[in-house]
Amino acid sequence: MKTNMTDNENTIILEPFPCTECSAGMMHPRMITYFTWLGQELVTVPHFPAWICDVCGRRQYDEKAIAWLNMLLDPNTGKTTIKKRKTNLRNKKTRLNSHRPIPDS
Ligand SMILES: [Zn+2]
Repeated sequence: MKTNMTDNENTIILEPFPCTECSAGMMHPRMITYFTWLGQELVTVPHFPAWICDVCGRRQYDEKAIAWLNMLLDPNTGKTTIKKRKTNLRNKKTRLNSHRPIPDS
């Protein structure tokens, strides 16, 4: 009988598959820290399931995990922790006439 005896690191059992990018390497399942931008905030998600090629380093994220994450980050799901209604005054370009040459980086 196959049951999930342990709920530790091996909750997701995945097998490597050939890389679609370089066709030479294998995509290996890894737990990485996923970075994404939510508006102007950088959101980091530790222990995010992803596939990483051992040759070209291509990353491919787990579709279900992405869907789950998008659902979490979707402001329409009823979360009120993110307020973006207020006008962001800091975005106003009041310094356009500044004398300082600011490199646009
Ligand atoms: Zn590859």
